[in-house]
Amino acid sequence: MVDSAHPPETDAHGSLAAELAKRLTPWFVRNQRDLDWRRTRDPYAIWVSEIMLQQTRVETVKDYYPRFLARFPDVGALAAADEQDVLQAWSGLGYYRRARLLHRGARYVLDECGGVVPGDATSLRAVPGVGRYTAGAITSIAFDSPAALVDGNVARVVSRLLAIREPERQGANNAIHWDVAQAVLERGSPRVLAQALMELGATVCTPTSPRCASCPVRASCGAHAEGLVDTIPAPRKKIAQPEEDLWALAVFWRGRLLLERRPEQGLLAGLWCLPLVTQTGTKTAKKTAKKTAKKTAKKTTANKPVKLSTASIKRALGLRLRAVDPDLSCAPVRHVFTHRVWNLQPAKLEALARAKATLDDSRYAWIAPGERPLGGLPKVTQKLLTSLGHA
Ligand code: SF4
Repeated sequence: MVDSAHPPETDAHGSLAAELAKRLTPWFVRNQRDLDWRRTRDPYAIWVSEIMLQQTRVETVKDYYPRFLARFPDVGALAAADEQDVLQAWSGLGYYRRARLLHRGARYVLDECGGVVPGDATSLRAVPGVGRYTAGAITSIAFDSPAALVDGNVARVVSRLLAIREPERQGANNAIHWDVAQAVLERGSPRVLAQALMELGATVCTPTSPRCASCPVRASCGAHAEGLVDTIPAPRKKIAQPEEDLWALAVFWRGRLLLERRPEQGLLAGLWCLPLVTQTGTKTAKKTAKKTAKKTAKKTTANKPVKLSTASIKRALGLRLRAVDPDLSCAPVRHVFTHRVWNLQPAKLEALARAKATLDDSRYAWIAPGERPLGGLPKVTQKLLTSLGHA
């Protein structure tokens, strides 16, 4: 056990690492979950799985991973693909920047590395989208060569093992975590131990209610010995997410629904969605207006509730519409992003036939029920399509 007030000595890491390696190896062999990406040593496939698993649950990735690999079976196939194809295969998985970077990374490997995924962490770090964690994961798991990897799970495990009390030292940026992980990987098979550390964090040493009674490294755990399991890591302060109320314009033309490609900057950049118009006069809008007013210390006139008008639609789309009163009978959709919440009310409208021709084809698409445009279709759009009965 290590006193968190004093940085631990290297031999303390060494003996802890040796103990962890000894206990985790047989435990992982017996208890690992059977996951598709654990049945391969192909560095490209492991790279794909690691990118997908960032901020995403294993259960979700289980569906996407085999489909993505069937569509882009190797680096060459991914590098040769159009970005819109890649985004389409990623649709619903979220954090689309990952898909764009993975695609760029594949092009880099093809152009700069002869199509061969590098086998060392330093060269891997030069690949777009590959950070220190992913480089460590690919090097250790695919090439069985020791390169530390510390994500939130591993940071939590090491913080508890070392009984690190200070919240600012419990995160994945603490150099001690990387040193311990590196020392563990050097004392056995990096392929097994890298996955074992992650598996321990994901299935036993979980954020809440860790299963210490069945933990293979309990005897080496400082937090367990000192009764600190429930206080390490320190609970994060909850930050209220700003909410926005929006109209989701469901514009139909001969049974086809209009989708708009979002701007290249901002939320859901470059992905398909219904055209959105901010609602004013709602409780959320008033709250936001109040906050802004306080911030700027200026007097504002309170928003008056307004109905969705054809004028505001025309402003948003430059489109002439048949319906004056939009049909608001579809269920609203609430979508929670990492730092924001959207409350969307679908509004059904009918376009005039000749208006269709006025829209730019690269920015707009008219889809039949069940049809999907080429490119990324995020989960929020899928929810809206379901609400509209157009999925
Ligand atoms: S004993 Fe408990 S707190 Fe310590 S590593 Fe194991 S599961 Fe985590």
